[in-house]
Amino acid sequence: LMATALAACGSTQKTVDAEASQSAAAGPAGTLVGVTMPTKSSERWISDGENVKAGLEKLGYQVDLQYAENDIPTQINQIENQITKGAKLLIIASIDGTAITTQLQEAADKKIPVIAYDRLIRNSPNVDYYATFDNFKVGVQQATSLLKGLKVDDSTKGPLNVELFAGSPDDNNATFFFNGAMSVLQPYIDKKVLNVKSGQTDFKTVAILRWDPATAQKRMEDILTKTYSGGDHVDGVLSPYDGLSIGILSALKSNGYGTSEQPYPVVTGQDAELASVKSILADEQYSTIYKDTRQLADVTVKMTDALLKGGKPEVNNTTDYENGNKVVPSYLLDPVIVDKSNTQTLVDSGYYEASELQ
Ligand code: BGC
Repeated sequence: LMATALAACGSTQKTVDAEASQSAAAGPAGTLVGVTMPTKSSERWISDGENVKAGLEKLGYQVDLQYAENDIPTQINQIENQITKGAKLLIIASIDGTAITTQLQEAADKKIPVIAYDRLIRNSPNVDYYATFDNFKVGVQQATSLLKGLKVDDSTKGPLNVELFAGSPDDNNATFFFNGAMSVLQPYIDKKVLNVKSGQTDFKTVAILRWDPATAQKRMEDILTKTYSGGDHVDGVLSPYDGLSIGILSALKSNGYGTSEQPYPVVTGQDAELASVKSILADEQYSTIYKDTRQLADVTVKMTDALLKGGKPEVNNTTDYENGNKVVPSYLLDPVIVDKSNTQTLVDSGYYEASELQ
């Protein structure tokens, strides 16, 4: 799996370079592309934005890149401004995938194609393509890694105490991650190998609005107070994003976890953010999911270039991403589980310098 992802990364990189020299001659020079990203509060979106911008500029496009600090009206204004400024294509990583329907209609009226970036845009026919990672698989991998950390196998009797967290309910990905994870965990919950001691298993109850770390920390603290103050130990936490994992680990720390008598539970994550990779190396967070945002940017840049040259972008999935209105043709990339045993992958693929992980 890892090898495939790396190979894919290498080949994508070459293709973009090759196209760069060609299209300098073809000349998309001056064509404006609007890129809107949700927030700078998480490293991944900063890299996503920079990589998409650099890739497009290399091909000669002009790029307007905006961040909305997770504020929906701000993102709506940014998209509107980009349409007004004459953008010929919009790349959108939405905050709320249902809140920009009006702007998308405006874009469609002006024949401006729209690419949903990483997060599906819902309830609109005016989404042309979707570039993302296999989001269900991300959830499957998070749960698989949780079981590995808990050393659960067919002979495990349990019950092991676990708690569940999900991402923002207005982000379509959050449901995919959670459903993917539950497809693996539910049988173990049914067999009572795993016990969600708080009783909170329903997506709406465990979802954390806007992926906010402080909200996750508070929820973990509440669970520890209400459910574990009698002395029971939390063995594992399904966390869908590194930022939430950091909040969850702080709550655990302030409740006495993280010592040799009371080690941290197995806590998962997502995005291979630097602080969390370091936390994994320090035996705090157990794992993360590495999604190489350089690959996602490359795919999106290629889609953009194809569309703006009147061609048809390459997709590899035309079934999974129904947005409430239509199935959006998608290109899905492969996520990779990273735990302490393979953090070197991040260095080998050039995602981080070895010195950054020290
Ligand atoms: C992305 C994840 C990220 C989360 C929070 C999701 O839509 O797919 O990679 O962890 O948003 O930013």
